[in-house]
Amino acid sequence: MAAGRGGRCPGHGGAALRAAAAGARGLGTACLRRCLPLCRLARRAAAALMALAGPLLFRVGYSLYARTRLGYLFYQRQVKKARERYPHGHSAPQPCCFPGMKILPIPVLSNNYSYLVIDTGSGQAAVIDPSDPLAVQAAIEEEGVMLEAIFCTHKHWDHSGGNAVLRQRHGSCKVYGSTLDAIPELTNPLADREKVRVGCLTFEALATPGHTVGHMVYVLDGGPFGGPPCLFSGDLLFLAGCGRLFEGSPETMLASLDVAVGLGEDTLLWPGHEYALECLTFASLLELDNPALEQKLQWVTQQRQEKRSTVRLGGVFPCLQPPPPAPRRVPHPLVGMLHPNTLLHGGCYRGRGCWKGGDHGSLLGVLPLAGV
Ligand SMILES: [Zn+2]
Repeated sequence: MAAGRGGRCPGHGGAALRAAAAGARGLGTACLRRCLPLCRLARRAAAALMALAGPLLFRVGYSLYARTRLGYLFYQRQVKKARERYPHGHSAPQPCCFPGMKILPIPVLSNNYSYLVIDTGSGQAAVIDPSDPLAVQAAIEEEGVMLEAIFCTHKHWDHSGGNAVLRQRHGSCKVYGSTLDAIPELTNPLADREKVRVGCLTFEALATPGHTVGHMVYVLDGGPFGGPPCLFSGDLLFLAGCGRLFEGSPETMLASLDVAVGLGEDTLLWPGHEYALECLTFASLLELDNPALEQKLQWVTQQRQEKRSTVRLGGVFPCLQPPPPAPRRVPHPLVGMLHPNTLLHGGCYRGRGCWKGGDHGSLLGVLPLAGV
């Protein structure tokens, strides 16, 4: 019976099941129809929240780093870790000598550079952005020079963290920078275009806000030594990259980059970070047919494989091509290796292009905003 009922029932049971399934499908579809707008709404709300929360969290983190003691503690930890990881520095130092003047890059932290600039005639010296005071002091002792000045491009600890210790050690040493940035131990505030002499060295301060509100770069006059101008660019400009816009609009940053671009084409670039490989790799993803870019990337890759720095050569590297036809922004060896099309691609970055979330952004992300 059971089997007979069972034998009969499958037909009826199947129909019932199909009906139930269809009902359920109908119910499911109706439910889905009702839920879909809600789901979409929820998704949009979540996306909006994320869009709001991301920058908010970033602002909070940045404020803690730049304005509180937590930032200093974080910097000290970074210094300690970098000393352990790179006991001889992240790159091999390559001094640059002219008659009467020497520039010594000092690799510090994981990718920063401080620079010791020496008037070899008098033994007077200045340092730009001394982040690790021990590394800078070691260079001072090795060179046997007197530290007369610290030029600070901006307040971030990885550029200014060594000011206090070096000031304690070198009592007559002055600290130069902008009052708009809270530069530790600042003794001599500088205005835009103000010049400072250290022995026979003459530095000109140029206000270049954007990365921070009081960011300054320093141009060393190489003329008296038969050399080109030297731009110590801090976090304004790297080789094929620029600093992240922490405290300025894209327009402000562009105006500052124009200051650098306005320098002579023989200007040597001494940036605050070793970011060339990242910058050029990123650029090469966007621009596939640029021999100058490709050649530069090959050179930089080779340099970095040998742990050699890419600073100094940024402004005069011979592979740089003449400006592409009818560019809408003025090209320059410091930045001009990129084709205007790449700059166009960069438009979507809206001045915040950044591929590692670090202290640097893509130049591509900034340049287009001036109407390229
Ligand atoms: Zn910075």
